[in-house]
Amino acid sequence: MTIKIQPQHAFTVDLEAWFHAHNLNIARSQWDELPLRLDEPVQQLLMLLEKHHTRATFFVLGYVARRQPSLVTAIHQAGHEIASHGMNHQRVDKLSESQFRDDVSRAKQTLESLIGEPVIGYRAPAYSIGSENHWSLDVLRELGMCYDSSIYPVRSPHSRYGVPGASLSPTTLDCGLYEFPLPTWKLFHHRLPAATGGYLRLWPMLITRQTFSQYDKANRPVVVNVHPWELDPGQPRQAVPFMRRLTHYTNLSKTLSRLDRVLSRHEFLTLRDMYQQYIQTMQPKQKVLKQASTQNRTRPTLHKVSEANA
Ligand SMILES: [Zn+2]
Repeated sequence: MTIKIQPQHAFTVDLEAWFHAHNLNIARSQWDELPLRLDEPVQQLLMLLEKHHTRATFFVLGYVARRQPSLVTAIHQAGHEIASHGMNHQRVDKLSESQFRDDVSRAKQTLESLIGEPVIGYRAPAYSIGSENHWSLDVLRELGMCYDSSIYPVRSPHSRYGVPGASLSPTTLDCGLYEFPLPTWKLFHHRLPAATGGYLRLWPMLITRQTFSQYDKANRPVVVNVHPWELDPGQPRQAVPFMRRLTHYTNLSKTLSRLDRVLSRHEFLTLRDMYQQYIQTMQPKQKVLKQASTQNRTRPTLHKVSEANA
């Protein structure tokens, strides 16, 4: 008899302020004058997670950690994982290799000195790691990261991110980094982003439910993602073009209840815990590969980001 284990999913938060959203296009020079407005939405998220006995991964922006360190230590003390969202929320595809290395190292040091333990996970601002800047994954590994969760295996509607054809399941990359891709909703032969940020708010809940159902059937984890500003309908309104306004402001008052429904229906882990589970199950396979490589004097090739969908 085969016992089918219901897959566990991951709940993640990109901890940044409302004015960090690229859709609002607010210059770095203005940030220090603007209120972060993080206390209330983070408190709401922590209470919601506690209600559902769930621990989450918070990808913390270094800028936020420097400006409000007590918020980060409070999240950590509540039992959640602190991971990195970089220092200054610059898109990775706009940075040189040395700028990226500097941004990731400074953010990692800032967070580690606050929480007193290693930070092992990274998410790029606006999921901006793709086939053009694949080198950034090697840099993350060199800087001591164990996993990344920035690859969106989809052609996004606005083409600002996405790696069409990338694996939908967690994958070990050639550099040794573990990749947790963002979730997609399958509609006939198309895949669209789902269950993250704006898509959790813009799509009807039916699509979020179908995404979970499709991933459960394939035994894949859904990596849910949300930003605190998505729980803040009272944030200052900016005059931005229609599509950006639609994406940023639609259904902000519904985010909390939608997350409550998702958390009621599914089990979630932090990405750190999920990573630990995966490396435990992979170890015997890696030993076999290592043995084979010693015999053949060749290095085993593991999956690539660009591999076809399973
Ligand atoms: Zn972000």
